[in-house]
Amino acid sequence: MVERGMPSFRGRQLFKWLWRPGFNDFEQATDFSKPLRRELANSGALLPLESAAVQVSSDGTRKFAWRLKDNDVVETVLIPEKDHTTLCMSVQAGCAMGCRFCHTARMGFRRNLEPHEIAGQALGVMELTDRDMWPRNIVFMGMGEPLANYSSLISALDILTDDLGLNFSLRRITVSTCGVVPEMLRLGRDTDVGLAVSLHAPDDETRNRIMPVNRRWNVQELIQACRDYPVSKRRRITFEYLLLKDINDSVEHARRLGKLLRGIPAKINLIPFNESPGIPFDRSSDEAMERFQQVLKAMNYTAVMRKSKGRDISAACGQLYAECKAG
Ligand code: SAH
Repeated sequence: MVERGMPSFRGRQLFKWLWRPGFNDFEQATDFSKPLRRELANSGALLPLESAAVQVSSDGTRKFAWRLKDNDVVETVLIPEKDHTTLCMSVQAGCAMGCRFCHTARMGFRRNLEPHEIAGQALGVMELTDRDMWPRNIVFMGMGEPLANYSSLISALDILTDDLGLNFSLRRITVSTCGVVPEMLRLGRDTDVGLAVSLHAPDDETRNRIMPVNRRWNVQELIQACRDYPVSKRRRITFEYLLLKDINDSVEHARRLGKLLRGIPAKINLIPFNESPGIPFDRSSDEAMERFQQVLKAMNYTAVMRKSKGRDISAACGQLYAECKAG
């Protein structure tokens, strides 16, 4: 707006309009003069995400598919919890990390999302959802690796948390990584978001088998980055641990995990494996999962079993896969 010869507060006004749910026509910008509205409309700046599909699970979870300008499709999941809802957002079309158990990895990497395509998922969901279902929390646990699209992630966080933007609280936003160590350290310096780490194994031998990223940054380097991550007193690092039958679910693995995380303010999220076509792993038995959790509890950890939501619409962890690529 300054480049167009206007005072800078006009830019703040415009920013506020652009991120207001339901804003789809510059004529709605009533604090702008008619000629200014026309000028903005002619410059064609509105780029809302195009909704390709909305699916509703029997447990209330909703999955939104968005068609991007180059026809790639990405997904966002809205998860109802007891007293609020959580939005699970994507940062890339596809993913390059290649985790063996993950369905998104099968798509391969298509491209990074731009900042407006990331923050736009929250705006789009709000526009398609009743206000009482609007999300309070955001987790970057959808498609893609957030720390492999670092600069767009940071810009999107700015939009999401600005009080003229979507006004989310940084404390209610969590970024999950499979362990891109250098960017973990940057993230800790650049923002106050919560960190979640997809650990899934306590030793290199096991982790190498299921997560190729571990050959680049091993368990020791990853855990050191967690120890160096600045967590405020009220926060902890979330460690995600996907339980795979006969791969990483023994009592011995649980003990090693407990030892590995000693001294880190940690919360352990145990995730039952969600099946997807063509993924060659099995879900751990209930007894094995229970035993694993008990070992960690006995070592004084907070270890919760994540209830899988939205499995009937393939909206659960690791199940996102853009099947509706436009023809
Ligand atoms: N790339 C980031 C963000 C994705 S988060 C990361 O890896 O952390 C999605 C979570 O679901 C990750 O913890 C991932 O390891 C887990 N996941 C992947 N496939 C899964 C499956 N089939 N069942 C359960 N969880 C899975």
